[in-house]
Amino acid sequence: MPVQKTIVPVNLRRDIPPPVIEKTPSVISALSVRGFSPSTLDAYVTCPLLFYFTRLIGLEERQGFSTDIDAASRGDIIHRVLFDTFLPFAGMPVTRQIEDDVLESLDRALQSHFTAGPNSGEYYLFRNMARFKLRSFVKAHLKDRDEPFIIKYLEERLAMQFPAGGTMVTLSGKVDRIDFDPAGERYVVIDYKTGGDRKQYPSGIAGKTNFLDIRSIHEHVVSFQLPVYMNIFSAARNIPLENIDARLIMLGKNSEELFFKARQNKNGSLIAAYTEGIRTVIAHMLDPDEPFAAFDTRKCMECRARDLCHM
Ligand code: SF4
Repeated sequence: MPVQKTIVPVNLRRDIPPPVIEKTPSVISALSVRGFSPSTLDAYVTCPLLFYFTRLIGLEERQGFSTDIDAASRGDIIHRVLFDTFLPFAGMPVTRQIEDDVLESLDRALQSHFTAGPNSGEYYLFRNMARFKLRSFVKAHLKDRDEPFIIKYLEERLAMQFPAGGTMVTLSGKVDRIDFDPAGERYVVIDYKTGGDRKQYPSGIAGKTNFLDIRSIHEHVVSFQLPVYMNIFSAARNIPLENIDARLIMLGKNSEELFFKARQNKNGSLIAAYTEGIRTVIAHMLDPDEPFAAFDTRKCMECRARDLCHM
C-alpha cells in the first residue's frame, strides 16, 4: 500500500559543541596495528568523532526501544542464510535452470536458522518477511541468467598491505560473495545489503569529488566498501583490477546497484580515484595534527552517537 510520509523538521540541537580529541602517539599506533576495514573508513568519513566513540574506544551506540532481535543480528541471520543457500553451488555453473534447486536450498537454510528465536510477534514477522524477501531475491537474481556464472568465494576474508600516510597498513575485509563470469572472464564482488536504500555509488561522483581532499570525500562519498573489496581481492588473489566488477544487492528493495554504471573506459579511472580516496582517508586518520573533530554538525541529530558526543 502507498504510505504517505510527512517530515516536520524540528531543531532540537543542543548548544554544547562536539569535542575535539587529540590523536596521541599511542592512539595512532593502535590504529596502525589494528588495520583498516571498509566500515572503519566509512565511519571516519561520516565523522571522525563517530569513529572515535564507536570504533576506537568501543562505546555503545544508541539503541532503539525494541528488546527483540536488533538490526545487526537480523543482518547476521540473513547473511548466514544466504551463505548456506549458495554453499552447495560453489564452484559449479549456476543458471536459471537450477532456480528450483537454489530455492530448495534456501528453504533448508531458512529452516535451520529460524528454528530457535524469540517467541514474539516481531520475530514472527521478521521470519516471514525474510522468507518472502529472500525467495523474491533468488528468483530475480536468476531470472535472466541463461549464461552460467560460477560462485568462486563465499564470505571470504581478504587482506593486503596498502601504502598510505607514509607507511604500509593492513587493509582487510570479509566479502560476501565473489562470482566468476566465464563468458566475460570477469570477477564480480558482491555485497548483500539488508538495510538502507541510499545510493552508495552515485554516477558522476568522480567529477564532483576531489579524492585528495578529506572534506570533499566527506561531502560526496557514501561508502568505500566495494572499492576496498576490489583492491584487497585484486591484491590477495593476484587478479588485475580491470578484471573485477562489483555490485551491491539490496535485499530490502530486491534491486542491485552496480559500482561501474556501464562498461566504459572511465571505469579504470573511477576505481583509481576511489583507491586514492582510501589513501587520503587513512593518511588523515594517521595524521597527529588532525584531531578527532567533526567535519560539520549538520547530521548530528540523526547520529547514533549523539548522546556520547553532545553530553
Ligand atoms: S553527534 Fe555529530 S559530531 Fe558527534 S559523532 Fe555524531 S556526527 Fe559527529
